[in-house]
Amino acid sequence: MGICIDDGDIFNSHDVVSLFTNTPIEKCLDIIKERLKNDKTLKDRTKLNTEDIIELLQFILTTTYFSFRGQIFRQIFGAAIGSPVSAIVANLFMEWLEKEAIMTAPLDCKPKYWRRYVDDVLEIIQKDTTLKLTEHLNTIDPTGSIKFTHEEEDQGKIPFLDTLIVRKEDGSVKMLVYRKKTHTDQYLNFKSQYPLHQKLGVIRTLKKNILETSDAVYKIPCKGCDKSYVGETGRQFGVRLKEHRKDSETVKDTKFTKAKRKASTSEQHKSAITDHVAQENHVINWEGASILDKDSNAVSRRIRESIQIPKVGFHILVIRIMLPAAGKNNRCNRTGLGR
Ligand SMILES: [Zn+2]
Repeated sequence: MGICIDDGDIFNSHDVVSLFTNTPIEKCLDIIKERLKNDKTLKDRTKLNTEDIIELLQFILTTTYFSFRGQIFRQIFGAAIGSPVSAIVANLFMEWLEKEAIMTAPLDCKPKYWRRYVDDVLEIIQKDTTLKLTEHLNTIDPTGSIKFTHEEEDQGKIPFLDTLIVRKEDGSVKMLVYRKKTHTDQYLNFKSQYPLHQKLGVIRTLKKNILETSDAVYKIPCKGCDKSYVGETGRQFGVRLKEHRKDSETVKDTKFTKAKRKASTSEQHKSAITDHVAQENHVINWEGASILDKDSNAVSRRIRESIQIPKVGFHILVIRIMLPAAGKNNRCNRTGLGR
């Protein structure tokens, strides 16, 4: 990426806490009204005037009802949950907020670089000014509901969206594909109003990057239940994924009776993933496979894998390392399926 960073500066990121549900609607309507008033081409695109559009928008944004446990509730704050217009409104609010924030920032904490994607911001700022900038950002929303949290670079690295930004010694910067440990698996909500080609672009790029990644700890979710398989490989993830798929396809076609399923529990399959397919007759979500962690050292990669397993998945590899002579009796422990 074409940016450089000085010695006295650091990368920092800010993100908004629950942007959609905290978006102040009245303020948004004011902001949008101003934008519409200044939109010289509006009358070429619609017969509605600014007042009409604002009235309709207000109606949509303030009449969200939902039922919960037999009772009907009205949403009284934030952008309407589930409405396609919410993402646009929240983004227009953020455009206003960032402009205000940068314009009014005290000189000693003014960011030198600022890039935002919806509710995530990447900045270059002077060392030791993070708190001051965060405090400043948190004063911009007049209703006080939009709050930012911050994260400074750690050892010259900072995650931003799905990249890891790394500063090199000469001040130049490189970008790697990366997924945060707390990743929610939501890149763009597919039902959101982003243009389709943009959604597909995100998916294609990610897919290619992920499949070509080597030295990875990865996760493959099951479609039939909420369990996931965790594994590690030194080779390209795409190659390993294909092998898993082939292995499990050999057991998939078997028609199961209760007795057969029970018998298959004691059968030795190639990995926990084929075991799971055989025992539960579940379909694996191959398209949903993802990278959890990366490490080029095989030993520490297995440690990273073993850290991930209790969190998300099932796998026999860890115990295979710890108990090299594991016999049949250990097998029920080894195939224990966890969340
Ligand atoms: Zn399952």
